Amino acid sequence: MSNQFWSDIVGELKPYVPGEQPKEGLFIKLNSNESPYEPSPKAMQAMEKAIHGGLALYPEADATPVREAVAKYYDIAPDQVFVGNGSDEALAHVFNGLFRHAGKHILFPNITYSFYPTYAKLYSVPYKEVPLADDFSLDLTPYLAASSDEVAAIIFANPNAPTSVALGLDKIEQLLQAQPNIVIVVDEAYVDFGGETAIPLIKKYPNLVVIQTLSKSRSLAGIRVGFAFGQASLMEALVRVKNSFNSYPIDRVAQAGAIAAFEDEEYFQKTRKMIMDSREYLMAEVKRLGFQVLPSSTNFIFMRHPQYDAAKIAAALREHRLLVRHFKQAPIEQYLRVTIGTQENCENLVNALSEILSKGI
Ligand code: PMP
Repeated sequence: MSNQFWSDIVGELKPYVPGEQPKEGLFIKLNSNESPYEPSPKAMQAMEKAIHGGLALYPEADATPVREAVAKYYDIAPDQVFVGNGSDEALAHVFNGLFRHAGKHILFPNITYSFYPTYAKLYSVPYKEVPLADDFSLDLTPYLAASSDEVAAIIFANPNAPTSVALGLDKIEQLLQAQPNIVIVVDEAYVDFGGETAIPLIKKYPNLVVIQTLSKSRSLAGIRVGFAFGQASLMEALVRVKNSFNSYPIDRVAQAGAIAAFEDEEYFQKTRKMIMDSREYLMAEVKRLGFQVLPSSTNFIFMRHPQYDAAKIAAALREHRLLVRHFKQAPIEQYLRVTIGTQENCENLVNALSEILSKGI
């Protein structure tokens, strides 16, 4: 079969490019916004128990225990919770189930999670990118002015990635009030590091979908569990798309880990505080080194140095076995996104940066 066959199908589709996952060598990974801490010991125990009992059997098809545990945590109903194999998969179902056949376009910021344009192309969803303000904050004006005759949905990350800037819940509610006939999707992958969740608003606004993940603040990127939250009628659209695969693709081990993670509030609060404290340390130190840093409500910071080239800094850090994320595209090509590691990781980074800048690059 010729390449023409599949190239006609995938067309211009460019795959999402994840941060480097080194296969060898001792790198400090500050490039993928994972947690530097192990998952909750209670989640580890629950997963070990699941491994030793019942792996020969299929998992709970509707992921009901997980949906019940998460619903209890957020004081909503289990039919308002959709579980995905990572929030990337929940997002895929949102694009496929809610956007694809709408016959209208969707809106998202020009600087945001790069999976949105990837999914839009994959599912043939027309889209328009709305520029962020010059300070990288999200200006609501174009979204408030959108016409529901043309726009099916608005999707943005709050706090935003890779910029780390958060939008207040009052603004999100303002948008929901102004646009009752447009689906509003708020991706809260990083919300636990200083943002405000919009989940309580799903009770009031039938057009709201909130996305969350266990990959960041719950230290469980390895088990791939993410969620969509919304009123049951919206979640039903996702379930229908998913049903072609029969059951929730969340295996027994992941289900057990997810439930236990939500039950260990103490560990969750402790690790997120450690990350936020290290973030304040890192921010102050890189500012001292001359970097300009955006306000952060996430487990990463977004920074640029007015004198030094970002790609060169990233390459020099790699020589020090430190990986950070550099995006090549304008207008953020002079920025670096740095994940908050342990306090020691942050100190290593500061030492490496001061050495690199003092030598000049
Ligand atoms: N949304 C945003 C904004 C992200 O940065 C990420 C992580 N790359 C995700 C969703 C997906 O995370 P996961 O699939 O691990 O849940």
